[in-house]
Amino acid sequence: MEQRDSAEAAVVADCAQCRGEIYVGDDVRRIDDSGDYVHAGWGRDCAEKYAMERVYDAEGVINDKGAIY
Ligand SMILES: [Zn+2]
Repeated sequence: MEQRDSAEAAVVADCAQCRGEIYVGDDVRRIDDSGDYVHAGWGRDCAEKYAMERVYDAEGVINDKGAIY
């Protein structure tokens, strides 16, 4: 029983966004250039935050001048 408990809680990586532990069986996304992992799936927005901080610089509704407000 000790072995099963430790296997269920096995940490396989650290999240590149929140630096929290990623356990066996967690939903994750792998980052293309680094091979790091981020949490994904319900209740975890690490993947979205990671992309938002590195890919996008604004979010909202675009106007006729191309500005986002
Ligand atoms: Zn995370």
